Amino acid sequence: MKIIMLGAPGAGKGTQAKMIADKYSIPHVSTGDIFRANIKNGTALGMEAKKYMDQGQLVPDELTVKILLDRVAQEDCKNGYVLDGFPRTIPQAEVLDKALTELGDSIDYAINVDVPDENIINRMSGRRACVACGATYHIVHIPTKVEGICDRCGAELILRDDDKPETVKKRLDVYHTQTQPLIDYYTAKGVLREVDGTKDMKDVFADIVKLLEQ
Ligand code: ADP
Ligand code: AMP
Repeated sequence: MKIIMLGAPGAGKGTQAKMIADKYSIPHVSTGDIFRANIKNGTALGMEAKKYMDQGQLVPDELTVKILLDRVAQEDCKNGYVLDGFPRTIPQAEVLDKALTELGDSIDYAINVDVPDENIINRMSGRRACVACGATYHIVHIPTKVEGICDRCGAELILRDDDKPETVKKRLDVYHTQTQPLIDYYTAKGVLREVDGTKDMKDVFADIVKLLEQ
């Protein structure tokens, strides 16, 4: 099963992608996580990506596409994967389609997690991410057992640099101009599914499972 998560930054793509990956035993592939791991390790790719991420801009397609295609070519992706944060532009979607078509394959579902902009700023300012394992929480909606400490691995939680309100506004602009057109793109391919992302995370997940299993 090959699934794409669509939605604004902060809509809950990562939260749902992790749950899908666990339930269906497929890898969760997040280009944002790959960039953040590179930043943490001080690689050349990380330094380049950080310039764009800190501004709320997209990392250029040339860099992003290569990383994604290398990742999904790995052995663990051969039975499927859930993509979170990729594609974010029409050219990225076209490259992915072309690569899949060459393998006689295609995307099964593009799930749009729909959350209005008004809710997004609140979600992002409350998001806390684990420095070690990448798990995400929300200080009000999805709190940890011990404040500031990851439930899963015990490491420290941080507010991402690009989750500051000014950067979030820029990221929402970028989302509306560059990423939202993907909704029409995947609708035309007959694989788009919509879920109401304003519900409680467990209810959103139940809706996703229902549509994957119908
Ligand atoms: P994305 O991957 O789309 O950027 P995340 O999955 O990281 O978004 O979610 C953004 C923030 O909102 C996180 O703090 C997360 O814990 C919280 N969140 C995710 N889903 C929900 C939900 N259904 N209701 C309330 N908060 C949520
Ligand atoms: P995310 O963790 O998905 O919110 O991504 C964080 C940031 O990484 C984005 O704001 C972009 O700067 C960059 N990024 C992640 N995925 C992509 C992508 N597919 N194309 C371009 N930039 C990306």
